[in-house]
Amino acid sequence: MTSYDAIILGAGAAGMMCAAQAGQRGRRVLVLEHADKPGRKILISGGGRCNFTNIHTAPERFLSANPHFAKSALSRYTPQDFLALVERHGIAWHEKTLGQLFCDGSARQIVDLLLAECAAGDVTLSCGQTIGPVEHADGRFTVTTEGQVAEAPSLVIATGGPSIPKIGATAYAYELARRFGLKVVEPRPALVPLTLSGEDVLFRELSGVATEVVARCGPAAFREAALFTHRGLSGPAILQVSSYWRRGDTVEIDFLPDAAAGWLLQAKQRNPRGTLRGILRAALPDRLADALCDRLGLDGPLANLTDAALQGAEARLAARPFRPNGSEGFAKAEVTAGGISTAEFSSKTMEARRVPGLYAIGEAVDVTGWLGGYNFQWAWASGWAAGQAL
Ligand SMILES: Cc1cc2nc3c(=O)[nH]c(=O)nc-3n(C[C@H](O)[C@H](O)[C@H](O)COP(=O)(O)OP(=O)(O)OC[C@H]3O[C@@H](n4cnc5c(N)ncnc54)[C@H](O)[C@@H]3O)c2cc1C
Repeated sequence: MTSYDAIILGAGAAGMMCAAQAGQRGRRVLVLEHADKPGRKILISGGGRCNFTNIHTAPERFLSANPHFAKSALSRYTPQDFLALVERHGIAWHEKTLGQLFCDGSARQIVDLLLAECAAGDVTLSCGQTIGPVEHADGRFTVTTEGQVAEAPSLVIATGGPSIPKIGATAYAYELARRFGLKVVEPRPALVPLTLSGEDVLFRELSGVATEVVARCGPAAFREAALFTHRGLSGPAILQVSSYWRRGDTVEIDFLPDAAAGWLLQAKQRNPRGTLRGILRAALPDRLADALCDRLGLDGPLANLTDAALQGAEARLAARPFRPNGSEGFAKAEVTAGGISTAEFSSKTMEARRVPGLYAIGEAVDVTGWLGGYNFQWAWASGWAAGQAL
């Protein structure tokens, strides 16, 4: 049996950040990872370039049953802090859009950064470990794997969420939390394409068509690209609203977000012989314009259409309702919403109040960011916070 000051389960974004911090503070840290190498999700992130943070990070850009929980960690470890680390490691980066920062080179550089920071803290990283029994007695945690038995006064759950199981993601965090009597907010796929059925199925013929829209679901509204797929709807605007979408909800799409109120009536006055199809084709991809026009059923010159019909069409184009019948699930979800309930944790240290010495960080916790670097920022910030407390 080997003794450490802290055992961290999971060598992903949050686990490695936490390990590096605690190690550099002089703690003896063991990280146990079941995959054969660390940071696999980081490697595939941001299309291989890792969107490692977002400069517009703010607590309102995260979903949680307790919207206040993320505030403390996010304010103490900011995007600028991570950016400073990136620059210290000589990693070239750029802002792509909407505050999203990416590596110029490869996501591998972020994994190497984390490994170098762990090495600077003398962290012991053990990959390919199947975690067996986890016991807790007399204020100490004992973790048994096939190859070793380790014990420590602190245990950190950093095994992430179950999205993309084919690269080793599991729901282990929830199982372990429940074993310690902690609650789990129902996990659900988020940042995920939505699927269409019924009348909406007709839109599948538009597979491959993309356009900038405002997508709305409940209180959420995102102006970004939407993409029609052979199964339904995708693209950044849809991924964003998917995190807010619950079964039965309607997603409304404004296909002409720049059109001013009354634009169709004005078009009729300006060009009475023009057609709705022609106007839509000038503003949208042809296939989409035709599909929308066919569904509105308004053909012929605008002069022949009543003002009421045109007003109706305008309203329909500004809030075209879709009723997804589901999502593409954990297999395609970029993150998992829900997770270990924050109710029983300190927002400053990430420690469970009822189980001293037990911590949970990263995606395993019920904190989910928007698309665009927010989820890594939560992993860094929560990992950093726990790393200061271990
Ligand atoms: C395709 C894709 C692209 C993404 N792109 C971005 C992006 O560009 N920007 C962004 O902010 N977010 C992105 N994300 C989300 C981001 O990757 C995660 O939110 C982030 O990695 C969470 O960090 P984590 O440390 O909590 O979990 P992870 O990074 O998933 O790490 C968890 C670790 O625990 C290990 N593990 C799991 N179960 C066990 C077990 N039973 N025993 C031992 N180890 C276990 C896993 O193998 C993994 O190494 C993306 C996600 C996906 C799937």
